[in-house]
Amino acid sequence: MVSVYPCEIHGSRIRGALEGIRITLLRGDDRYSRRLRVCPSDLTELLRTHSEEWIRVDDDGLATLDGLCTSCGTDENATRFSDQVFVYVWRRGQPQDEFYGALCYSCGERLRKDFALVKEEHRL
Ligand SMILES: [Zn+2]
Ligand SMILES: [Zn+2]
Repeated sequence: MVSVYPCEIHGSRIRGALEGIRITLLRGDDRYSRRLRVCPSDLTELLRTHSEEWIRVDDDGLATLDGLCTSCGTDENATRFSDQVFVYVWRRGQPQDEFYGALCYSCGERLRKDFALVKEEHRL
């Protein structure tokens, strides 16, 4: 069986089913988000690449962060904006996984551009 949709990272359909990841960036009242369908190996690679930046949320909830950007280590209190990122991962045969990061403005911008996150309009 070939997947109905192409993997949104490498661009082709695969044998077997795709997995999913949703990345949401919160910046003040703004919210940027995107869900991608990706093949298992690209998803593994993506999570590996961001393993320092995205901290797994366990049963105890969010880890206590030390006020530093989880990506570059900049003191985010010193920057004008600080961004929060929430990542949800759906893998075959596994419970949903959730990750969290606190980013400085420039790392937030990089993430938003890398994944082409789409601004969600406020609903009235
Ligand atoms: Zn792929
Ligand atoms: Zn940073």
